[in-house]
Amino acid sequence: MVITHIENQPVEVLDAVVCDVCGIRITPDNYTEYAEMVRASGMGGFGSVIGDGAPMVT
Ligand SMILES: [Zn+2]
Repeated sequence: MVITHIENQPVEVLDAVVCDVCGIRITPDNYTEYAEMVRASGMGGFGSVIGDGAPMVT
């Protein structure tokens, strides 16, 4: 038996992504460009050349 209930919760919806390099604004309805985007994030680990805990900027 599965017991469920219905909740109404706010949902965050992506409107656009702006490239940090060239500044182009791409919306999800522009599927060709949107599908080609690459997003990377992270931070330097212990002893990293960019520093311990330093944010990785791409
Ligand atoms: Zn760009």
